[in-house]
Amino acid sequence: MSAVNWATTSPPPSVPPDVAAAGADDALHEAGTGSWVDLFRDLHANPELSMHEHRTATRLAETLRAAGLDVTEGVGATGLVGVLRNGDGPVVMLRGDMDALPIKEETDLPYRSEASGVLPSGTSVPVMHACGHDMHVTCLAATAQALAQARDAWSGTLLIVGQPGEETFQGAKAMLDDGLFTRFPKPDVALGQHVMPAPAGYVLHRAGAIMAATASVDITIHGRGGHGSQPASCVDPVTTAAYFVTRVQAVVARETPSFDPVVVTPGMFHAGTKANIIPDQAVVTLNVRAMSDAALDRALAAVRRIAEAECAAAGSPRPPEFEMFAQGPATVNDDRLVGGLAAAHTALPGATVTQLPSPFMGSEDFSEYGLPRDRYHGDAVPYAFWMWGGADGDRYPNFQPTDVQSGESDIPGNHTTRFELDAEPTIAIGNRLLTTSALSYLA
Ligand SMILES: [Zn+2]
Ligand SMILES: [Zn+2]
Repeated sequence: MSAVNWATTSPPPSVPPDVAAAGADDALHEAGTGSWVDLFRDLHANPELSMHEHRTATRLAETLRAAGLDVTEGVGATGLVGVLRNGDGPVVMLRGDMDALPIKEETDLPYRSEASGVLPSGTSVPVMHACGHDMHVTCLAATAQALAQARDAWSGTLLIVGQPGEETFQGAKAMLDDGLFTRFPKPDVALGQHVMPAPAGYVLHRAGAIMAATASVDITIHGRGGHGSQPASCVDPVTTAAYFVTRVQAVVARETPSFDPVVVTPGMFHAGTKANIIPDQAVVTLNVRAMSDAALDRALAAVRRIAEAECAAAGSPRPPEFEMFAQGPATVNDDRLVGGLAAAHTALPGATVTQLPSPFMGSEDFSEYGLPRDRYHGDAVPYAFWMWGGADGDRYPNFQPTDVQSGESDIPGNHTTRFELDAEPTIAIGNRLLTTSALSYLA
């Protein structure tokens, strides 16, 4: 595997650090073996839903305290913050998200999840780490320990953030609202990484926008229910909602410029209880994504207009209701940071660094940490976010980096029942990526 040339218009912020010379070699060598694989398997077998990451946070807190960090739990509900003050220098924030998904795991892993959880609706669901946040927590713990052991080699402050509720876009906001940047040292730079369906060793960077802005919306479509034998005396919300779901695809097909991608996905459609009952209402839940706030606002306005028009066309007794949730801005990397980090990562043994040709339409609330907001005290925090592969490369010998975005990969993707990480190499490279990145600013 050869590294792809990284073109950048800005110089790296520092020379890629020689991590071994920095004295962290023993700690880094430990990555991918023994205790970190055990921690990963334990987290994988015990996933928790968003904002309920009690056990996960406790496990992370234990490892951070053992490494000598000053740990505060319960920041933004189940979030936690670890601080390692080590002399003068920048404050570098490393963030890992901790939550799992309401998915029934179907891997053959001996440590697969049998766990269940309860959604806010009260529904009991199976729970699975199908987005790799168990890996993120493991690498955060391993990196904290490596940097603590190598503290003679760097100077500054390390801020470790174990974030809850990424999948619901609640966690970053909750931690910021609970004083992440006021009760603790405000970072000069924030760094984060995410596993993706590529063989372990692949590292994907992108300057500028790397992930989309997103918003979800519950749309309640009102009808007038009655006996299924008498549709003429009713207003059928199921038919109205079905027309809406079909028509709303035109937002992408006919209203969106082809150079400015938008995704509109009706992920949920709930109505009715019995074949011969016309219900009073139907609820369609949409997820909308775009690469800018302006494009997202334009798409959401179109969604609203079409829902209102379909309800008017059907003779609904009242207009539809809209409830927005899980909103977040696009993740837009600082170009200068990405240039430096990609260069540092390219120098790591076993890493194949590639530039993403276009952003992912996935989303991340990591972007919240970089928003310029007065309520979070002052200037925006520059950040960089990258992806790294976690699959067993031997099982996917024909993988090409372009497969990640073309949809042609046969590696089970994030949020699927068979999403599976090859623990040892993924921890090893994930830890090195994160440690090297932190040392790029601290060393
Ligand atoms: Zn996810
Ligand atoms: Zn994720």
